[in-house]
Amino acid sequence: MRKVLLVSVLVFGCSLVGYSWGFFGHRVIQQLAIYALPKEMQPFYHRHLAHLVETVVRPDERRSSDPTEAHRHFIDLEAFGPNVLQEMPEAWAAAAAKYSADSLRKYGIVPWEVVRLKTRLTQAFYRQDKDSILFYSADLAHYIQDAHVPLHTSLNHDGQLTGQHGLHSLWESKLPEQHLTTYTLTHDKARYLPNPEQEIWQVVRESHRLVPQVLALEKQASQNFTDATKFTITERNGRTRKNFTDAFSAAYQQALGPMVQDRMRASAERTASFWYTCWVDAGKPNLDKLLPTPRTKAEKKQLKQERKAWKKGTLQEKDLLLTKIRISLMNVVKWAKESVA
Ligand SMILES: [Zn+2]
Repeated sequence: MRKVLLVSVLVFGCSLVGYSWGFFGHRVIQQLAIYALPKEMQPFYHRHLAHLVETVVRPDERRSSDPTEAHRHFIDLEAFGPNVLQEMPEAWAAAAAKYSADSLRKYGIVPWEVVRLKTRLTQAFYRQDKDSILFYSADLAHYIQDAHVPLHTSLNHDGQLTGQHGLHSLWESKLPEQHLTTYTLTHDKARYLPNPEQEIWQVVRESHRLVPQVLALEKQASQNFTDATKFTITERNGRTRKNFTDAFSAAYQQALGPMVQDRMRASAERTASFWYTCWVDAGKPNLDKLLPTPRTKAEKKQLKQERKAWKKGTLQEKDLLLTKIRISLMNVVKWAKESVA
């Protein structure tokens, strides 16, 4: 009985399966994307940098209150047969005719959600509706970034089918959180996407082709570890939590090489490219007019400094990553509270 109870409450710490990139990764990628935009878009996005970095995780937050939300974040490709990458039609109508709309919804709709939101953001630019531009920029970015995570394209999304439970949050949360300082966070500038639907399917295919490596390299890294060195078990608020050790995370990171870094960089570049494409398709509206107050000298200087650091890959060294500043502030507040208590 005790054993059953232990198993039932033994959860992977911070393993919110399907919450791709973790909040940390999404926020870092969102900031990087802003620097890849053209000059006509950058001031507007930079003015709202903190807001966009904060709201990029809103679709994940919605999952607890909206039962229709979860399936927008992934696509379990194996459910559609072994040759799915060649056989799955890209357009929703053709895919639904082939597999049924219910099946598509059951196994995830992330590429079609990106296409739907691409239209919404283009319309928001066309109407020059500032609030909608910000809302759809954040939501669209989230799903594009999700599609870059290999395990978001697989039925085996947490390694649960191969005895590798917890792999999801290890890959997308623990690795970037622990190793971000070793990543080079530069990437290409935004490009115009002549066919956004094809582009997001390209992302899904790239991600899916990485799944075998994600699984195999975890097994390979595990060979040098025992359960005692691979996992830590902690008790908190009456729950027993199982986490990967930092040592195992470091071994897995080494085995993967630049994979996580490269998917983050590609996510940032694609996020910027989708935003840019929506803006072009809406007739390139003047975004400076949507700023309620003109840009200040200090603001211009700050953006210049950040952009320069992004180009050189020194945003982290120069303490310019918002997410990291936020975490440091939270630690200071926590430390202060603990000191008072
Ligand atoms: Zn998500």
